[in-house]
Amino acid sequence: MTAVSTATPTAGTTARPQAEAVIDLDSVAHNVRVLAARAGAAGVMAVVKADGYNHGAVPVARAALEAGATELGVATVREGLALRAAGVDAPVLCWLHAPGADFRAAIEAGVEIGVSTPRQIAAVAEAARTAGRRATVSVKFDTGMNRGGLAPDVVDEALDLLAHERGVLDVRGAFSHLVAADDPEDPVTDLQKRRFDAAVDAMTRAGVAPRVRHLANSAATLLRPDLAYDLVRPGIAVYGLSPAPDLGSFDLRPVMTLRATVVLLKNVPAGGGVGYGHQWIAPRDTVVALVPLGYADGVVRGLTGRYEVAVRGRRHPAVGRVSMDQVVIDVGPDGDVEVGDDAYFFGPGDHDEPSAQDWAELLDTINYEVVTGVRGRVERTYRGGAA
Ligand SMILES: *Cc1c(COP(=O)(O)O)cnc(C)c1O
Repeated sequence: MTAVSTATPTAGTTARPQAEAVIDLDSVAHNVRVLAARAGAAGVMAVVKADGYNHGAVPVARAALEAGATELGVATVREGLALRAAGVDAPVLCWLHAPGADFRAAIEAGVEIGVSTPRQIAAVAEAARTAGRRATVSVKFDTGMNRGGLAPDVVDEALDLLAHERGVLDVRGAFSHLVAADDPEDPVTDLQKRRFDAAVDAMTRAGVAPRVRHLANSAATLLRPDLAYDLVRPGIAVYGLSPAPDLGSFDLRPVMTLRATVVLLKNVPAGGGVGYGHQWIAPRDTVVALVPLGYADGVVRGLTGRYEVAVRGRRHPAVGRVSMDQVVIDVGPDGDVEVGDDAYFFGPGDHDEPSAQDWAELLDTINYEVVTGVRGRVERTYRGGAA
């Protein structure tokens, strides 16, 4: 779970948060429609793990389902149960379990369980007996990632166990995760497809043929329509960020805008230093603006001296070290900026702000890490959607 607080739009206060991540649910809907069009006849399982990539799993799930997603995917049982507790009744699959995961609660809540080891299969069967209810399971195959999923050397054992426990296990699906779908040149994707097809055949031979097969993450959904099978399983693209930025933005619309309010302005004379260690010295008389968003909120300190913030449709360099709670921007001697203005850090570009992808490039990381890194005092607020 992230530390971002979820602001209820209808909560009593009318004050705007001084730092917020604005989540545009109409953009979620747009992105899901883009993905569904690529998926053709396949359904869309919107991945809302990690609290909806830090956009809020429940509101994103609702907006995605409304726009045509048919299922939801999460990592843990607890994430699945949280969706159910919020009243989301669409199919939910969870696939990452430590020993002690509450499979019984998942079964009772009708959350489908992805299994990666014989031990997990046995634990789910046991939980189903205790619950007095059949568990719906999907088998996650390791087709080359060597991370999660059923390892090739235990496939036979696992399939025997699934067949043996058919009374308490409804084996619904087969899935696997791609290593390098963002690189169309990488031959590993086709190798994984062949291994996946072979695994499905092995299930059929074992008498536990899957009714749904899924392999495609965001990148494969957009780049490899031939891998759509029965369901696609996009995550990052639902949030409007490109899974393959070198290849384009695929008409996706970034969902999160990170914004804070200008707190004060002050004159700094030429030669005046700003912030800790005076990392930046004003080269001329200028005006700086203080914005209350710092590294504790996800503006990582590694951005120091390397990023810009947009105010009133113009970009201004952030100067001095990023502090825990705040940053300073140089708005220039005649800067058209006032206390109370909105300062935009990243978003879809509606206010000429940079994108999460721009930050990812500055930080030598991926856009996934930028949006999931927003934290601390940033309040989430929502636009659009049914609400
Ligand atoms: C996170 C995840 C996805 C979504 O991946 P994206 O690259 O965000 O589209 C799909 N499947 C599994 C198993 C995952 O863990």
